[in-house]
Amino acid sequence: MRMLVTGGLGFIGSNFIRYMLNKYEDISVINLDKLSVGSNPANLKDIEMNKRYTFVKGDIADKQLVEKLNSKVDVVVNIAAETHVDRSIVNPWPFIQSNTVGAMTLFETIKKHEKRILQVSTDEVYGDILKGSFVEKDALDPSSPYSASKAAADLFALACHRTYGLDVVIARCTNNYGPFQFPEKFIPKTIIRASLNLPIPLYGEGVNIRDWIYVLDFCEALNLLLEKGKIGEIYNISAGNELKNIDVAKNILKIMGKSENLITFVEDRPGHDVRYSLDSSKIHREIGWKPKYNFKEALKQTVDWYVNNNWWWTPLITEKTIHTSPWKLKG
Ligand code: NAD
Repeated sequence: MRMLVTGGLGFIGSNFIRYMLNKYEDISVINLDKLSVGSNPANLKDIEMNKRYTFVKGDIADKQLVEKLNSKVDVVVNIAAETHVDRSIVNPWPFIQSNTVGAMTLFETIKKHEKRILQVSTDEVYGDILKGSFVEKDALDPSSPYSASKAAADLFALACHRTYGLDVVIARCTNNYGPFQFPEKFIPKTIIRASLNLPIPLYGEGVNIRDWIYVLDFCEALNLLLEKGKIGEIYNISAGNELKNIDVAKNILKIMGKSENLITFVEDRPGHDVRYSLDSSKIHREIGWKPKYNFKEALKQTVDWYVNNNWWWTPLITEKTIHTSPWKLKG
């Protein structure tokens, strides 16, 4: 099978490409990535010479380019996106361009070639929920420009299915953690700052709740959805590890043998979602997927990976990537 994976130099994309090439001998992958924020060529350095892997630098919103690449493959997995909520608050336009216009460009070109596209989406499209968990039929109520741009892409995907018969499957996942995540995101930033003995910034009181999934569990779910997902359907993916941000930070500091005194609180993010929670019984029931990784063990592995691979993150450390936040320190 020949696959086009977009955004393959980012966190989830690079883990997914490595997972697929290792798992199957008969798969080849074209990775289309524009080398935007979150990308890092070092993420796939180990497979650069693999004959079944081709990298193309380019934009998913470039119609001519995606038309050409789509004609060479059997399936497309759209992982490319601008992904940092804080950046979307400062400037929403690159998010609309990549996440919505780019996704629609892929849908439009793929429908001509009659092949499957797996659209990678997020729990954030539902907005937050104080009690209970969202199911796939729940209404979308995004809070940030990032999640609005992802929600718009989901709606275009469903409209293209209904109107043109596009073979699309949508995967909505909770927060991922694991190796190769850009240092400005919460878990790598916490590990890297702790290893440099810098304060660990938490928004507000640190009580916002996220549900964490190890990235290889998500990669397995994506692989199963490519094969078994029903056309035009949405699947929620979560691993049932709901934790307050402050508890994640404390867990990391404990693993690293660092003091909790490193934790500091910063002015809350505008529009900050209180809690995300997904009901993923549909993918359990219909596809047979279940998470395999235990949170405590996989978090420890993740911490060890960042601690042992400072060659990977040192070149990425700038004022912006491990900054405290775009907002102000409290007090
Ligand atoms: P990331 O920021 O690490 O990587 C995104 C990649 O997409 C980068 O390599 C970037 O260069 C590329 N890209 C951006 N715009 C592009 C464009 N127009 N054309 C080509 N390439 C482009 O992001 P991630 O954390 O790996 O997330 C990947 C996807 O998974 C996103 O769609 C995100 O919404 C979704 N998702 C992420 C999480 C998470 O916790 N990380 C959770 C749920 C869903």
